[in-house]
Amino acid sequence: MIIDFNQPNYYYEDLVTDAGTLTKQYKNILKYVTIGKSHDNRDIIMLQLGLGRRHILFCGGVHGRETINPIVIMKLAEDYADKYESYKRTKKLYDLKVKSTYNNIVLHSNESYYNKMIIEKCVYELLQTYTFLMIPLLNPDGYMISLNGFNSIHNKELRYKIKQMGIPCAQWKFNARAVDINRNFPCRTWKPKGSHDYAASENETKTLIEIFHKYPIRCFFDFHSRGKYIYYYRNSMNDKYNEINYNIAKHLKNVTGYGLVKKEDEIDYGDSGGNTVHYFSERFIKPAITIETVDEYANFPLDIKYRLSTFEEVKLILLELGACI
Ligand SMILES: [Zn+2]
Repeated sequence: MIIDFNQPNYYYEDLVTDAGTLTKQYKNILKYVTIGKSHDNRDIIMLQLGLGRRHILFCGGVHGRETINPIVIMKLAEDYADKYESYKRTKKLYDLKVKSTYNNIVLHSNESYYNKMIIEKCVYELLQTYTFLMIPLLNPDGYMISLNGFNSIHNKELRYKIKQMGIPCAQWKFNARAVDINRNFPCRTWKPKGSHDYAASENETKTLIEIFHKYPIRCFFDFHSRGKYIYYYRNSMNDKYNEINYNIAKHLKNVTGYGLVKKEDEIDYGDSGGNTVHYFSERFIKPAITIETVDEYANFPLDIKYRLSTFEEVKLILLELGACI
C-alpha cells in the first residue's frame, strides 16, 4: 500500500512523491505527466490509468480547502492499478477455473475470494477499454495554503497580497493569486468580478483547458467537497444534452448514494459563473458533471476521517462509468 489514509498531513510534496512511486510499481497500466505550473511554481500533475482509447477525465483539488479529494483520487488510481495487476498475475489460473461451472462452484466455495476475482476481472477489462485521466490536484498552491498556512507560498509578493485579505488559511478556496479557479472558465455564465478580471487568466485554468483540448475526452468529472451531491443539469445546454447527463448522474447516484441536485439549483443566486463543467459542456457538447463529496456542513479544515469514507463512496464510479459511457 502506497497511499496511506492515516498519514496526518498529506502535503503537495507527498502527493508528487506518491505519484512517482505508484507509476514505478504499476508501470504497465499507470503513468504520470506534468501538465502545467501553478503561479507559485508547483507542478500540476496528471495520472493516466488504463490502456484504452476511451478517455474519461477526473479533476480534483480545484478549491484549496477541499483537501479530501486529491488523496482519494490518488487512492482510486492505486486501487484500480492494483486490481489490474492482481488479475493479470492470476489470470491463467482463473481462466482455468471458470471454464467449468461445476469446477467453479467447487473451487470457489470461498465466496469472498470469488467476488474478488470477479471484480479484478472487471477492472482488467475496463482498463483495456478506457483510460482515466486523473488530475488529483489542479490547485496545489491553494491546497498548501489551506493545509499549511500562507507561508507555504514562496513568492513574496503573492504571499504578502493574500495575507492582507483577512481570510483564514483553512477557508482558502483560491489559488495563490486569490482567484477562484472555478469562476475563471470562459463560458456563458462567466461574469467579471472586477475591472481587471478576465476569463482564463490563471495558469491552473489554462492547464485544464489544454487537457480538455488535447485528449478525446468522452466525459469530464470535477470533484468538489460540499454535501454529497451530483450536479448534472446545465441550463445553457439543450434537453438532449441534459438527458444524457441525467442518465450518467443516475448511475453515479446508485453507486455513491449521493443526491441529484435539482435543475433550478444548478447555480446559486449571485454566483458569478465560469465553472470548469460549463466550459467543457459548452465547448465540446459532451457530459460534464460535478461530484460533491463530504458532508455539507463539515468544517474546514476537513477532518481526515473523510478520506476513507469518501473513497468507499466513490470507488465504484470508474467501473460504473464503464457500463454507461
Ligand atoms: Zn469546490
